[in-house]
Amino acid sequence: MTALVPVLILHFNLNNMKNDKLGIAIVGLGLYGGGQIAPALLQTEHCYLAGIITGDASKAKQFKEQYNIPETNIYNYSNFDEIKNNTAIDIVYVVLPNSMHAEYVVRAAKAGKHVICEKPMAVSAEECDTMIAACKEAGKMLSIGYRLHFDPFHLKIKRMGTQKIFGSIKKISSGFGQPSKKGEWRLNKALAGGGPLMDLGIYCFQAVCYTTGQIPVAITAQSLPVTDKEKFIDIEETLMWQMEMPDGIIAECKTSYSDVYNFIRVDAENGWFELDPAFSYSGIRGSTSQGKIEFTEVSQQAKQMDDFALAIKHNRPSPVPGEMGRRDVKIIEAIYEAMKTGKRIMIHI
Ligand code: NAD
Repeated sequence: MTALVPVLILHFNLNNMKNDKLGIAIVGLGLYGGGQIAPALLQTEHCYLAGIITGDASKAKQFKEQYNIPETNIYNYSNFDEIKNNTAIDIVYVVLPNSMHAEYVVRAAKAGKHVICEKPMAVSAEECDTMIAACKEAGKMLSIGYRLHFDPFHLKIKRMGTQKIFGSIKKISSGFGQPSKKGEWRLNKALAGGGPLMDLGIYCFQAVCYTTGQIPVAITAQSLPVTDKEKFIDIEETLMWQMEMPDGIIAECKTSYSDVYNFIRVDAENGWFELDPAFSYSGIRGSTSQGKIEFTEVSQQAKQMDDFALAIKHNRPSPVPGEMGRRDVKIIEAIYEAMKTGKRIMIHI
């Protein structure tokens, strides 16, 4: 009889913990939603994988079994709006191709759910306005899947840059390029909204913004001639752009769906620091003029989702809100305008 007491207490505590966690439903179980976000939700403390929205019955079955998801929390794209009646789902995480983000964020907000939307937030700033307004109207929070804001290496370079640990920044450059696969939606402008800038280049200027603590004021940009005309029909293949920061430094950035690079490098008055690789899910390496930057690896996605869950619970703003996603789409629009016109484009957020 006495041996039962600790078991009962443990059982009570476990139930309590689960009840405390916010339920997340993922829309889009592709490489990122299914391959990264779902497994990361096994490592979160303040939220868990409560539901899925998928158009694929075999994926529904696989995820239901793998993550122990009740049938009542499984939706498809047609009955998605019924999620409003499901109290087990607190947050909808939109992990669809870029041009579908706006529709699903608005539908999730209208269903009374908080929303996480993958980057880039949308394919136009106008869409971002609609998404932000829908969440405001519903009284729900909106955040963007900017996982690197929760990675210790990136938090470190943010601190080193903004706190001028090596003095004022003199030079900053960043690049992210990796090959794309023929036939994937990323090469289709209607679904992706653009080329590698939407997908990879966004990390470069994000990192410049949080490392300098500044937002660019003007942009110039140049795309390189396309080498594969079948693959790159109406999107850029490789793009370089320069961002004039308010303090006068010029941030040099580049992105590509053909070339491979993945770095941020900062030269300051009294030293330098860099991450290379910089933007990966794991295996980030950092060094400074004084030695290596070392951290134990974390799940960036688990940290990101836990932070959002806590922001909701404590009614405090997310450090990566919809407004930041909108700001970045405005920067993307300015970069594309500079690329197309060859002119220096001022940024008006
Ligand atoms: P993916 O192609 O692997 O998955 C897309 C998902 O959307 C699939 O489940 C697919 O079935 C579904 N879908 C629904 N309608 C579709 C349509 N008309 N065309 C194509 N797919 C459709 O893509 P992904 O790599 O998982 O990217 C999804 C989103 O996540 C994108 O916005 C991308 O930018 C973002 N992403 C973010 C990160 C990050 O590190 N934060 C990493 C990868 C992808």
